[in-house]
Amino acid sequence: MEKFPWWSEAQIKLAEDAKKFTDEVLIPLGERDVLKKKFPWEGVKQIATKGWFGTLIPKKYGGRAEEWGVTGAAIIIEETSRAGVVHTPLGTTMFGSATQIVHNGNEEQKQRWLPRINKGELIGCITMTEPYAGSDVAGIESTAVREGDYYIINGKKRYQTVAAAADLYMCYFLTSSKPEDRKAYTHLSAFVVEKGTPGFHIEKVNDTMGYDGLYNCYLSLDNAKVPVSNRLGEEGEGWKIMMSGLNVERILNAAPTLGPQRECIRYTQQHLERRLQFGRPICEIATNQFKLADMIWKLYLSRLIVYYGAYCADLGKDVPVEAAISKMFASDSTMVTALDAVQCMGGNGVMKIYPVERIMRDAKHAQIAAGTSEILKLIIYRQGVRDLKNDLKVPQRVIDPDINMPLPLGKPLPRKPGRNEADVLAVLAENYRINPGLHMTMEDIKEWLDISDADLVKYLEILEGQGLAGLYRTRKGISLARATYTGLQKAFPPEHYQYFGTWADPNDLF
Ligand SMILES: Cc1cc2nc3c(=O)[nH]c(=O)nc-3n(C[C@H](O)[C@H](O)[C@H](O)COP(=O)(O)OP(=O)(O)OC[C@H]3O[C@@H](n4cnc5c(N)ncnc54)[C@H](O)[C@@H]3O)c2cc1C
Repeated sequence: MEKFPWWSEAQIKLAEDAKKFTDEVLIPLGERDVLKKKFPWEGVKQIATKGWFGTLIPKKYGGRAEEWGVTGAAIIIEETSRAGVVHTPLGTTMFGSATQIVHNGNEEQKQRWLPRINKGELIGCITMTEPYAGSDVAGIESTAVREGDYYIINGKKRYQTVAAAADLYMCYFLTSSKPEDRKAYTHLSAFVVEKGTPGFHIEKVNDTMGYDGLYNCYLSLDNAKVPVSNRLGEEGEGWKIMMSGLNVERILNAAPTLGPQRECIRYTQQHLERRLQFGRPICEIATNQFKLADMIWKLYLSRLIVYYGAYCADLGKDVPVEAAISKMFASDSTMVTALDAVQCMGGNGVMKIYPVERIMRDAKHAQIAAGTSEILKLIIYRQGVRDLKNDLKVPQRVIDPDINMPLPLGKPLPRKPGRNEADVLAVLAENYRINPGLHMTMEDIKEWLDISDADLVKYLEILEGQGLAGLYRTRKGISLARATYTGLQKAFPPEHYQYFGTWADPNDLF
């Protein structure tokens, strides 16, 4: 696949190596493990020999973060994600555990865990979700109560990927039930819980729709005794720690959807070129070509947004919208691509002899795990609207006397004095002509009038009391205002509001 022009020499070399290694070593192992529903231990060992577990670990602890960075991590994950599910323990370790220790651990913790993670000796597990805290992960209920040098932990976690194969569990527990801490998001603390901790057990191994053999589990913590020295950061910093690496995590959760898209494309094209129906190869059928075209553009766009996000992350830029888009777009694309691949391959598509059957099942997981597509859309909306605030502002518009239609102004008009309620009503009524059916925000009104907040509220309330204005209030006070029908009548004569298209026959008007 394309090596993007902004990749470093080291990243280009890494991409070539990762592709070759995946083709030659990991795919045969990975496909076999998936069909046997076995955890991909051999693939994990092979990956460890390449040093890829240390992709996001600084050189000081034996890793390659400075050289490969988030882009390198995405490259490795993209390639390895073509080989069954072996990329998953790599991902949960690389960006679900190692990065939290790198960014939030103290020196003793870094020395204790990072060199061993780097060698592939410790597998990490992301341990956030609970039976009653899914998308609303701040609602974690498992408690950690300090007793001397230990925390006593009680509660349950669920859906943890690779849970039965992991050594380090990057966990978040409730350390304060005070409402003010919950409000300030200082109610959680972050811990690395180690396999073998007394009272820490696997409660269930789930039978899942896809991600065969990966050990998706429920975990139970029953008076589990975790040393204080396993707490990352200070008590109450759990949410901050969880959020700190989220952009990188989202980008790298999008990367493993790229490999499956590529596998779908190559298996589909192989099939279409070699399958004859109605006397010709079915790749000549336009609807099949369209499906493949759709798969290709989705892959191109998915790769662009993932690697753009990774590049920004390597530059230290905060890119929450791009990160959310990359996870949402790439995983939604993979779902559609997998469905199209199966459809193009007909009966062969649903047989386990080709990977597209598995990819279709796995694709659904990607739309749910690590933030559902709906939650990501909420983030894109909320953060996107904040980011685009300046671009979203439409220019002030006035009724042009020539065409009697609202036209944008290059520069805002000088504001008129807002001396009384009549001035405010005139603005609200004029807005009925310019933006029919829309209310005005307080800022909108102040674009027209030179008026203090207090006076504006006062005059609006007077108008409301007189039935001349309709107001919409939030907890913060008046948010939107408009002229009522009576207000419109009071502000201007009826002719002021009239507009007749030039084509309208005056004889037809009344
Ligand atoms: C395969 C797989 C692997 C996973 N691996 C891990 C792991 O390793 N570690 C871990 O901690 N967790 C893991 N999870 C958990 C995963 O992060 C959660 O499943 C996910 O966050 C959704 O939570 P939920 O399943 O409880 O769904 P819910 O939160 O109950 O949501 C159900 C539906 O409602 C929608 N919804 C919920 N709230 C809103 C809202 N406010 N607005 C719009 N829509 C909303 C959701 O989008 C979804 O469609 C994994 C899950 C899966 C399926």
